Amino acid sequence: MRQKFIAGNWKMFTETAQAKSLAQGLKQNLSGIMHRIVVAPPFTALALVSDILQGSNIGVAAQNMSNLEAGARTGEISVLMLKDIEISTVIIGHSERRQFFAETDALINEKIKLALKHGFDVIFCNGETLAERESGKEVEVVTRQTKTALEGVSAADMTRITIAYEPVWAIGTGKTASPQQANDMHKTIRSVIAGLYDQTVANSTIIQYGGSVKPDNAKELLSMSDIDGALVGGASLKVEDFTAIAKFDM
Ligand code: PEP
Repeated sequence: MRQKFIAGNWKMFTETAQAKSLAQGLKQNLSGIMHRIVVAPPFTALALVSDILQGSNIGVAAQNMSNLEAGARTGEISVLMLKDIEISTVIIGHSERRQFFAETDALINEKIKLALKHGFDVIFCNGETLAERESGKEVEVVTRQTKTALEGVSAADMTRITIAYEPVWAIGTGKTASPQQANDMHKTIRSVIAGLYDQTVANSTIIQYGGSVKPDNAKELLSMSDIDGALVGGASLKVEDFTAIAKFDM
């Protein structure tokens, strides 16, 4: 049985006051929930949100980190800085990082290995663009992304990797992959993991779906056999919406 894992990616939203009230609202609403819950505020709100959520059942993740531990990389945040403020989960390879910051599969692989070296849990994102899906390349693309990202990652470390399948055409667009489309790709990813490791690792890997998950479609998506959770963008910025998604089965 894989534990459902719901994560909220706040992206480049939330100044202090909003971050504070979101965290406080979620702490109150989601206490006692059995699913794993994580929120990923912007860097400037990480410490504040961690303080508020201390002792709660909601974890805190960073949205990104550098591929280097330290160095002359103006504007970057290192894994050591995250560790220093007691963050131990990080999102790596989000499509917005690939699209707007030219992150490659190879760079994402470096980041994943560095995060694992420092004991982090990783939410690794993959997913095809609209053009790639329309040309029938979605399986090829997602397979390549997954294999490259996991190069050099041991089977033991796979317990700390969550995969978020996020078709780029469904992110922030209001278009959702149908539950069947998403489930099919989750099965494909699981078979890639089985090929890289074995069926036991594949069966225990948590694979989230992301792309316009909302309160009104969460239950249908999360009831599919291979969808183990959700990575939620827009709807994670509203306490009521993220609460409803996290409580999709209540
Ligand atoms: C995301 O940013 O990971 C995401 C899935 O966004 P949205 O839910 O807004 O589509």
